[in-house]
Amino acid sequence: MIELVEVAPRDGLQNESRQVPVAEKVRLVEQAYAAGLRRIEVTSFVHPRHVPQLADAEAVVAALPAHADARYSALVVNERGYDRAVAAGVRELNAVVLVSERFSQRNQGMSTQDAIATVARLRWRAEADGVWLSVTLAAAFGCPFEGEVPEPRLTAIAERIGALGVDEITLADTIGVAVPADVRRRIDRVRAAAPGIPLRMHLHDTRNTGVANALAAVESGVRALDASLAGLGGCPFAPAATGNVATEDLLYALQRSGYRVEGDLDALIATARWIAGVLGGAPAGMVARAGGFPA
Ligand code: ZN
Repeated sequence: MIELVEVAPRDGLQNESRQVPVAEKVRLVEQAYAAGLRRIEVTSFVHPRHVPQLADAEAVVAALPAHADARYSALVVNERGYDRAVAAGVRELNAVVLVSERFSQRNQGMSTQDAIATVARLRWRAEADGVWLSVTLAAAFGCPFEGEVPEPRLTAIAERIGALGVDEITLADTIGVAVPADVRRRIDRVRAAAPGIPLRMHLHDTRNTGVANALAAVESGVRALDASLAGLGGCPFAPAATGNVATEDLLYALQRSGYRVEGDLDALIATARWIAGVLGGAPAGMVARAGGFPA
């Protein structure tokens, strides 16, 4: 069984300049749930000055539809964000460590070492509070400022995060440079560095390798994949970063490959077309344009 983690409400929208109303964000979450998705990253609790689109995090969480089996999560980058998220009632959090030093300074205003120390504090607090904590290793395949990210640097960080006993580690191709061979190799290395910690992938489709990378990850045994309806996304801090791999593209490829994966393709296509329209464009993903097969 493959789990898709819908990130359009957070990663998908954070780069949009037009402010999306809370009601539309909540509708996006509701439609993703109605289409069969259960893990949904609904917002991030970061400083409103850095990501104005998500300044309404508390209001979005307060308005989420109550479903006992929904796993709503939020992204945090520091203890202030952790406090806000937990106060809002979020029980699953995703913290971030930028693998590249310069990207970490630019994006989070702290060194990678300080980000790891922050995650350690979040981990202790999450354990005490009964909060589920995933950690994303961002720019795990390449950095917009430093270029290549050496594998030993990634594995050294993964080892330290794994030693904290976090609930999940996500390898993020934040700027969409990975190819399947990278994915297979880095998954193997991280698995060896952080044994026993479930892995998840966060893939951007910047260079048209998103679906291929996702399939490579699944063939390597990964069972959780981030995806974004309509292929929405981008990173406000990374030049030329484009959207995430589209949820509907991933679902199509996985289901037709015989994997068990939750989600109704027609409902996801309809939602992808709707949210792209809300943002004033067409879906970036291919399947929402072409439709499923057979019709
Ligand atoms: Zn992303």
